[in-house]
Amino acid sequence: YERNELESFRKDFYSQLPQALLSDNEISELRLNLGNIKVRGDGCPLPITRWSQLGLTSDITSVLINDLKFENPTSIQAQAIPAIMCGRDVIGISKTGSGKTISYLLPLIRHIKAQRHLASDESGPLGLVLAPTRELAIQINEEVTKFTAKDKSVNSVCCTGGSELKEQIRKLKKGIEIVVATPGRFIDLLTLNTGKLLSTRRITFVIMDEADRLFDMGFEPQITQIMKTIRPDKQCVLFSATFPNKLRNFAMRVLHRPLSITINSKSLVNENVTQRFDIANSDEEKFNTLLRILEKHEESSNGVPMQQDWNDSENKDEKAIIFVSSQQICDLLHIKLENEGYTIYSIHAGKPYQERLNNLENFKSTPNSILLCTEVLSRGLNVPEVSLVLIYNAVKTFAQYVHTTGRTARGTHTGVAMTLLLNDEIAGAFILNKAIRDKELEEHDPRIVKQLKSMSQEFEKGMQSGKFKVSQGFGGKGLDNLESKREERQ
Ligand code: ADP
Ligand code: MG
Repeated sequence: YERNELESFRKDFYSQLPQALLSDNEISELRLNLGNIKVRGDGCPLPITRWSQLGLTSDITSVLINDLKFENPTSIQAQAIPAIMCGRDVIGISKTGSGKTISYLLPLIRHIKAQRHLASDESGPLGLVLAPTRELAIQINEEVTKFTAKDKSVNSVCCTGGSELKEQIRKLKKGIEIVVATPGRFIDLLTLNTGKLLSTRRITFVIMDEADRLFDMGFEPQITQIMKTIRPDKQCVLFSATFPNKLRNFAMRVLHRPLSITINSKSLVNENVTQRFDIANSDEEKFNTLLRILEKHEESSNGVPMQQDWNDSENKDEKAIIFVSSQQICDLLHIKLENEGYTIYSIHAGKPYQERLNNLENFKSTPNSILLCTEVLSRGLNVPEVSLVLIYNAVKTFAQYVHTTGRTARGTHTGVAMTLLLNDEIAGAFILNKAIRDKELEEHDPRIVKQLKSMSQEFEKGMQSGKFKVSQGFGGKGLDNLESKREERQ
């Protein structure tokens, strides 16, 4: 292709909001909240939270909401759709069943509608979806049809081996905007009739779906061959459930400055950390729960039977950290716990630097001691013997929760992260409920699990209605700005 021979085309359909509306921390918190979205590459737009933010036509939105009943975008959709609609090459990685199909189909249809229509003597398609198997191609084409059935300007056909060739040719002859194909059959059709039926000349958007399987099934040479015949400035996206190295190498070769978007389905919290929680109705009740937990913890650290080798018990150092939200609570708990006979060290920003250092050193060198601290001061703290983290005041952000729980189970050690919630700390319940694993919930009293869920739901409802903000991590007016700018635009 000579660049100057190429007709220009449009691939940017989404005007992103200025990123500066949110701080980097707020952006990463937003992505954590929407299902642990990880983005690599520069200039990725912010994820959306509602379909209406995409500026799609009402017929498409109506299929989504009224026909398919998809109320909200899934995590991958929230981030991948705006990224693709900006015209970027995108790598989308998320587990099976997470809604990858719509992630590329909506941008594809938007793309097709904006291009010059096929002339009567021109062969399509404009958009190509490559899939590894016949079944998958059929399924994708059915999904396309749901959005384009009433739209005469977007026609699609499924081209796979093993199905009726004549029928495929008949459809292609009528002029087709979207082809969903397996790589082998697509090449067969290209060579048939030397481009009268099918041509890559007008293709400006290519999708590789289930790219890991395309590779496992040995389609790399065919895909490379197809890509060579398509204009170099095409938009190209790749979706996959896994992203092995050989696929990564291929993607880096074929895609141009791709944004890579990964939905991390694993828990945010280190798998060596066991999460537990309790819900109290009053400060007093909460303090008593704390005492109960510390007592148990102490038993477990001193639990080595006397007749065992002394060295064994000496090695067993089980420290605990208690996180609180303010200096005042820190000082107050310090006194109350010392009165109960515990060895407590505490650090917070109100103490002189040298005192903080000494307290930390003493905590490290005293077996089975307890450190009381505010979250900010614990950053970077690495004490391998900490086997219990107690979150005494509910965290306000996911980032804070992940960081705090990460103070235990350092290296190969295991540990417990226990959250003590008051029954009105619904934002904390929301975060915990998202982070905690099903198998960890099963180890709790069903009544308390129910209470956690209903607190979390209450928060979620409030968030949707705009009554609550996700967290004080958004305190800097960021999210307010974002929402109001979005509304202005609409
Ligand atoms: P993947 O390709 O990631 O395996 P699919 O695109 O096949 O996932 O979608 C899995 C299922 O989820 C399908 O039944 C699809 O209809 C449904 N789905 C997709 N997006 C949404 C959404 N936003 N809300 C609810 N269900 C959805
Ligand atoms: Mg899929």
